[in-house]
Amino acid sequence: MKKTTQSPSLFPKMYCSLFGHDYEVTKKVTYYVKEYTCSHCKKQLTTNSNGNLIELTPKFKEINAILERIHSKRTSRLQREIATSSIC
Ligand SMILES: [Zn+2]
Repeated sequence: MKKTTQSPSLFPKMYCSLFGHDYEVTKKVTYYVKEYTCSHCKKQLTTNSNGNLIELTPKFKEINAILERIHSKRTSRLQREIATSSIC
């Protein structure tokens, strides 16, 4: 009995192991934290608090979602402050 174990995702993974991952920024969480996805194997990375790239686990997705909320609140407040100070 012969079974084919080859999956369509085998090639992109091979490509990455040969040539390295080709990460694209898929999300800007804050100025420093971004989420990256490999265009070949769809592996996801993120920047941690030390500025290093780490695998994007569900836990880090959660952290990034919180960071994003805080960041967007801050920037919207900052933009309001700039807008009001430019009137005076
Ligand atoms: Zn890859």
